[in-house]
Amino acid sequence: MEAAPALGEPLPEPAPVPDCVQCARLADERERWRAAGDDTRVSDCNVWMRRHPTHEHRVPW
Ligand SMILES: [Zn+2]
Repeated sequence: MEAAPALGEPLPEPAPVPDCVQCARLADERERWRAAGDDTRVSDCNVWMRRHPTHEHRVPW
């Protein structure tokens, strides 16, 4: 048994804001990707959800 490393742990998933259509869509999409086993897409949805309320989808780099 080894202790879980403090670094490299995934961030807690953001919760969708109830009255936000974008958050609802992202939450829905996130669950679909999770069901598909695509963790990368799940992470993408989390990133976009954290950008509430603007939900800027363009990557800045
Ligand atoms: Zn939102």
